[in-house]
Amino acid sequence: MHAGNLEKAIKLVRGARKVTVFTGAGISAESGIPTFRDTGGLWQEFPPERFAHWQGLLKEAWHHPELVARFVLGVIEPVARAVPNPAHHAITRLQQRITTTVITQNIDGLHQEAGTQDVREIHGSLFKLIDRSGTLVRTLHRADLQALAQHLQGMLHDNVTLLKLLASFRNVLGVDFKGIVRPNIVLFHDAMAEPDWQRAQQDAQWCELMIVVGTSAQVYPAAMIPHQAHQRGCPIIEINPVTGEFGGIFLKGKASEILPQVVQKAR
Ligand code: NAD
Repeated sequence: MHAGNLEKAIKLVRGARKVTVFTGAGISAESGIPTFRDTGGLWQEFPPERFAHWQGLLKEAWHHPELVARFVLGVIEPVARAVPNPAHHAITRLQQRITTTVITQNIDGLHQEAGTQDVREIHGSLFKLIDRSGTLVRTLHRADLQALAQHLQGMLHDNVTLLKLLASFRNVLGVDFKGIVRPNIVLFHDAMAEPDWQRAQQDAQWCELMIVVGTSAQVYPAAMIPHQAHQRGCPIIEINPVTGEFGGIFLKGKASEILPQVVQKAR
């Protein structure tokens, strides 16, 4: 990492009164939740054009229920086991000192589990089950996802059918997934999760500093948020092991190593 950039970032955090942290899948990578686009990510085995929208998923479930069982397992199993890592905890510490909001594209609930408040989950949450009208039906716990993952794993040893797949959702989670109840997650073609999306856009106008952590910036409209902040002259710090995308001060490296350093040194 460029030492000059680290110093600049520390200075910016020290001077800021209103901070927004914008996070993507990379912040949870070190909690054991793989990103989707990196090598070995879920999209390599399950192409997004088939699996990342409800219509495609239903079609796949009809024709290839075993594939869908493996896809669901691929999504929920790492989340079921995950705990917050030092990057999530560093944001909580930052929030204890400076007014801070968090906009996350993640559906894994790890910011809240680390004790962070004012988290905008713009792509929804794997833990919230909603009905057709969008009303919250049930909030799941990590243990529920663990039970479902275990059940699906057992099922994969057998012949997976659509009926068995639906029965496993009903029996383990106590809900009917036949288009009636579903997790409140935003897939391709879906509207962004509200009221969080509205609040995220307000944050982009409100913050004096935006810290962008672990996002490829390829998912829109989410990626508009750092661009909006940048365009109105808000300084941006970007933490990523590969590259920065928003023209900010780039800190190359892993979120769990860099973010705690920045927060600690800015005290
Ligand atoms: P992405 O998969 O497109 O990109 C991940 C980014 O994280 C990459 O730029 C990568 O270089 C970076 N990264 C990898 N390891 C890192 C680390 N240790 N520290 C910091 N950065 C690291 O992810 P995205 O941009 O968030 O978009 C993918 C979509 O998939 C999002 O909508 C997100 O909701 C969803 N998703 C969520 C989770 C989750 O909830 N944990 C996991 C995977 C994907």
